[in-house]
Amino acid sequence: MKKKDWILIFVVLCVAASAYLAHYFLRDTGKGEVIVEVNGKLTGTYSLNEDQEITINQGSNLLEIKNGKANMIEADCPDQLCVHQRAVSASNENIICLPNKVVVEIRSKGESQIDAVTN
Ligand SMILES: [Zn+2]
Repeated sequence: MKKKDWILIFVVLCVAASAYLAHYFLRDTGKGEVIVEVNGKLTGTYSLNEDQEITINQGSNLLEIKNGKANMIEADCPDQLCVHQRAVSASNENIICLPNKVVVEIRSKGESQIDAVTN
């Protein structure tokens, strides 16, 4: 009985580990898109695969996409909270600049395709 329990635990752990690894690698293949919203309006979608700098809201915020991650590198907001936030790369992670009403969010391409259909 006990041996069977251990085998079961081992199998469950293996499944969990492979699911985690699959998720990790899928995330790292850079399938994500960066969604930029200003004042609740979508202003642009950018690929996480392409390294680039994005000027948001006529220059109030500057977003950098590098190595599959999006990072707010400059902002003219007084709190600078968005600049101090760590870079985001996983689906549904976001950077929010409250004073400038800027939202930067990561979405997987699969999800945005569903959005395109429903819109
Ligand atoms: Zn800010």
